[in-house]
Amino acid sequence: MTDQRKQVLVFRELPPDQLARLQEVHDVTVANPLRRDQLAAFDAALPRVQGMIGSSQLIDEALLQRAPRLEAISSISVGVDNYSIPALRARRIVLCHTPGVLTETTADTIFALIMATSRRLVELANLVRDGRWTGNIGDDLFGWDVHGKTLGILGFGRIGQALARRAALGFGMPVLYHSRRPVDVPVLSGYAHYTARDELLERSDIVAVVLPLTDETRGLMGSREFALMKPGAIFINGARGAIVQEPVLLDALDVGTLRAAGLDVFATEPLPLSSPLRTHPRVTCFPHIGSATHETRQAMAEMATTNLLLALAGKPPLAAYPLD
Ligand code: NAP
Repeated sequence: MTDQRKQVLVFRELPPDQLARLQEVHDVTVANPLRRDQLAAFDAALPRVQGMIGSSQLIDEALLQRAPRLEAISSISVGVDNYSIPALRARRIVLCHTPGVLTETTADTIFALIMATSRRLVELANLVRDGRWTGNIGDDLFGWDVHGKTLGILGFGRIGQALARRAALGFGMPVLYHSRRPVDVPVLSGYAHYTARDELLERSDIVAVVLPLTDETRGLMGSREFALMKPGAIFINGARGAIVQEPVLLDALDVGTLRAAGLDVFATEPLPLSSPLRTHPRVTCFPHIGSATHETRQAMAEMATTNLLLALAGKPPLAAYPLD
């Protein structure tokens, strides 16, 4: 019998139980190239590995050229914007990801940004924490109702629809959405309406981006788009930072009429200390925590591990990103 063990490179932390599943079947190297003490091991492993698993790592053509035996990459994420799709396609390398298991948690996070920005939750909680709550707060610190406001969702896939359910069915918010085609979601019938992108920007009180980062969506929110938004509207980004032109967003807040912005993602992460977004009084920044709960990160790690085991065994993974 031939030895089926293959060489696997784990380039981000995996929970011990999932690491053990891989080690049972394959020879595993754990090396995170972001850690200076592990970079050499990462570089040394590339020429021999057949499988890779991890997240938040740019895997471009140059890196792929250093991994000539690679058969499958398993991303512990739903977004695949870190991977060079044409290079993977050309080499017929399977790309797996983790759609579905993080949908509800990410929608919760995005709704938390909607609540935080509308009701000024972080600012007001800090008022108490800092000992500045010395009397009844006045209208200079009042928030903005969420219920009844129109939510515009750009990108109406798994997370966009989960966000729409929260908004329409839980908070009585009329929902407009835009994606490249209308989607039939029976539970949202009569609640969420397909709308052209410009019209969505013009009519929504709160605009939330839940799009994948692609060549089409990179920089999509620019000066024209922010100018179309209603005076006093709120902007939320729960997808990828590069979809938004950040300097334009700052202008929309400071020179334009944007009320507030809630951001889970940024063009550069971690957000540089020098970024004006970090301390802007009307911006709520989360440190990319869309899926960051114990339960969901465990579910993502399990799915990604199963994906890699299946792909390396020549079987269809639970979720392969379509490369055709
Ligand atoms: P999904 O189910 O694939 O949904 C993506 C939606 O965007 C679909 O409705 C798609 O519909 C639409 N779309 C794609 N390209 C478009 C374009 N050019 N113009 C208009 N609509 C477009 O993905 P998902 O699971 O909801 O995740 C969405 C994104 O959220 C991920 O790609 C990821 O980057 C991000 N995310 C962030 C976090 C976080 O931690 N903050 C966590 C999870 C995911 P059509 O193809 O029909 O247009």
